[in-house]
Amino acid sequence: MAAKIAIAHARLFGNVFVCRDCNRKSRTQAVRIIAGKVKCPGCGSRKLRPVRKK
Ligand SMILES: [Zn+2]
Repeated sequence: MAAKIAIAHARLFGNVFVCRDCNRKSRTQAVRIIAGKVKCPGCGSRKLRPVRKK
């Protein structure tokens, strides 16, 4: 259920996430962010946020 909402969100937000540490953008699926499988391509941080959220 929660995963489905995440996927729908990912579609709406274009699957783009931004690193909170270095603001580097990365295109991936929200479910992978939630699962902690995605690292920032710039600094290796796992602290990523959706691109539109403040
Ligand atoms: Zn980073």
